[in-house]
Amino acid sequence: MRVVYSPAHLAHDIVTETVMGAVIPANEVAERAERIRATLEADGGFTIEAPTEHGTDPILAVHDPGLLRFVEEAWPAARAQAIGRPNLIADTFPNFRMFEGMSPDVVAGIEETQFAAGRAGWWGLDTANPLVAGTYGAARAAVDVALTTADLVLGGERAAYGLCRPPGHHAARSMAGGYCFFNNAAIAADAVTRATGQRVAILDVDYHHGNGTQQIFWRRGDVFYVSLHADPERQYPFFLGRANETGEGEGAGANLNIPLPAGTDDETFLAALDRGLEAIAATPGDVVVVSLGFDTYGHDPIGDFALTTAVYHECGRRVAALGRRLVILQEGGYYRPALGANARAWLRGAEGRDDEPLPAPGFGAAGSDR
Ligand SMILES: [Zn+2]
Repeated sequence: MRVVYSPAHLAHDIVTETVMGAVIPANEVAERAERIRATLEADGGFTIEAPTEHGTDPILAVHDPGLLRFVEEAWPAARAQAIGRPNLIADTFPNFRMFEGMSPDVVAGIEETQFAAGRAGWWGLDTANPLVAGTYGAARAAVDVALTTADLVLGGERAAYGLCRPPGHHAARSMAGGYCFFNNAAIAADAVTRATGQRVAILDVDYHHGNGTQQIFWRRGDVFYVSLHADPERQYPFFLGRANETGEGEGAGANLNIPLPAGTDDETFLAALDRGLEAIAATPGDVVVVSLGFDTYGHDPIGDFALTTAVYHECGRRVAALGRRLVILQEGGYYRPALGANARAWLRGAEGRDDEPLPAPGFGAAGSDR
């Protein structure tokens, strides 16, 4: 399988994040993508290639120009305002209840501030989105990775994998959040619909609900969004992801949320996956964009599902059995020791290769180990 990867993600060098006000070592770190890349290289069955530049037009087809401008300018602006922090994280957000009782005209006149901390709150969802000097370049490269992966599939590949970092599915049209800046999967799906004129499905199997993807396509009928995720009653992003959110207008019925309980195991997850795949099979279209996350893994530090490496192979196999072409894009997954094995298992399943385990490092490679 062809894999698209860019080392530009390394400049999005995140060290800490906050959880309920506590500073903890970051989960969304560069090592994640490097682990996956190294394991796919060691497998021998994947070819890794660089993305091509696609410019900002495909981003602006999905996102507010103000968000793009903010992500580009935020770091230099924070520096210019002498904000001495290792990263920029907002702490004030325009909660909609702040404007309760005010007329819509007055609320519509409220604008982005010029101060970096206020701007970060204006364009942000939460505090889980540290921005550093290299974030803009990395986020742009992740979009190029996604679009190049889509190009490979439009060019005839049955499936291709984009190792996107930072991830994207929490980023809405006018909002970054949840480790995400630009919505890689949404940008790729939008580009595919424009290139083919056909309906595209997005299958989001990350542990979290892809609130950004849902928001972007809420009123669109040309992109069918299906998400399996932790019930937002107990998990981020808390305020979206319920089963009764099904889309509106032309998008009515084109949004399927399948919230799942704590402790969801292989069997429960596969049953939910089958439900999602049946729904996709019942809609027209030839391309599926997969938002692939491994925070569903049993040992994930921020998830509460119980999936095993073996089931990822079966998931990949079942998704490929749809018979549609697959643009597979990396989202979350934070248990770093197993990330490579989990990605390799899923992708081998999608290719119809068996799930033989990767030999331990150093074993048998030179033929000298017994
Ligand atoms: Zn996630």
